[in-house]
Amino acid sequence: MITIEEALGIILDRVEVLAPRRMELEESLGRVLGEDIFAREDIPPFANSAMDGFAVRAGDTSPASPASPGRLKVLEDLPAGAVTGTVVGAGEAIRIMTGAPLPEGADAVVMVENTREGEGVVEVLQPVRPGENVREAGESVRKGDAVLSAGTVLRPPEIGMLAALGCPRPLVIPPPAAAIVSTGDELLGISEELRPGKIRDCNRYSLAAAVTRCGGIPVPLAPAGDRDGELRERLREALASDLVITSGGISAGKYDLVREVLGELGGELLIRKVSMKPGKPLTFTVVGKTPVFSLPGNPVSVLVSFLQFVRPAILKMQGKKKLGLPEVEATLSEPCFEETGRTHLVRVRVEREGEGWQVRPTGPQGSGILKSLVLANGLMVVPPNAGPLPAGARVKIILLDDPAE
Ligand code: AMP
Ligand code: MG
Repeated sequence: MITIEEALGIILDRVEVLAPRRMELEESLGRVLGEDIFAREDIPPFANSAMDGFAVRAGDTSPASPASPGRLKVLEDLPAGAVTGTVVGAGEAIRIMTGAPLPEGADAVVMVENTREGEGVVEVLQPVRPGENVREAGESVRKGDAVLSAGTVLRPPEIGMLAALGCPRPLVIPPPAAAIVSTGDELLGISEELRPGKIRDCNRYSLAAAVTRCGGIPVPLAPAGDRDGELRERLREALASDLVITSGGISAGKYDLVREVLGELGGELLIRKVSMKPGKPLTFTVVGKTPVFSLPGNPVSVLVSFLQFVRPAILKMQGKKKLGLPEVEATLSEPCFEETGRTHLVRVRVEREGEGWQVRPTGPQGSGILKSLVLANGLMVVPPNAGPLPAGARVKIILLDDPAE
């Protein structure tokens, strides 16, 4: 049995970054840019007013004060979006709005708050320096500048910048499509009434949500029963996606057929079991070039092994560099009696206390008990044979959410 780190190494070695393609800017949030972006124009493209006020010659406003204001003749109004051929001469001003181009002759703007208006004239109560309240052409970005480089993750500011630069369809690494296949004869749809021996298929939904959360596109397929014909058909369908995630059917039971069927489809089995709890029976197969993650069926195992192995793979496929979840060191508030020869990822709640973090398990740790994962915001990493741990022990925590949420 291999360790979590070894398994992750094998997986990341075989998973490739997807080829970039052009996507609509509106769909590019969180994507990794696949090209360097250069400015084709200055931003702003022309000198313009940073304030609502009056475009003037700075020399005409000095000295000016409330007691002896400078009086200037107002020639016209200049709203944002308009242009004028009028030149501002000595003793003259144009009423200008924020964003309107600075008219010829003017070299500064007096903000409206520092003026008093009369009939056809404006009184300037405070002098302005040349260039004051003027946004110069190219002050944000100059034509020809390298503005964004390939590999940048697009956040709202980068999206805004691409819009300002006139790039409606940037070249980005697309989101991987992840086929999701639940397996098990016991599974019902979530709207169905329970019947004897049956349970609702929750993995299909939790996995789809987990895929979405790390930037992939979930492609949930109809669940497959524990029969090789149906499984083969469903897995063939799933292999059209960039990656495949199955749940259930890989333990030691008589009807655990996923591994066998993947073998028949030409899969190269790279991982069979990982030394972790929950989630030991996890297989990683590559069919053609498509990575297939076969996760155990228990609702907690499925999500914990997703976070450990599938999430980093999906992030890598998107060209992301930061693949791990954040970790903190915390102090255990109460003893933890969990004990196993594998790495145990114990569901816990971490809370900030003073300078540090305090942590306590969230309840029974059975791999089917989703409730204790619902209550958790972290996973405590207990190395093999390290338990039980006393209160006060220092432990490593993988954060599942922003603990401030
Ligand atoms: P398996 O890995 O197929 O042996 O399943 C392990 C346990 O997880 C069994 O109790 C299954 O009933 C349960 N299980 C498997 N798949 C699902 C699913 N999609 N939703 C909820 N429970 C499941
Ligand atoms: Mg099963």
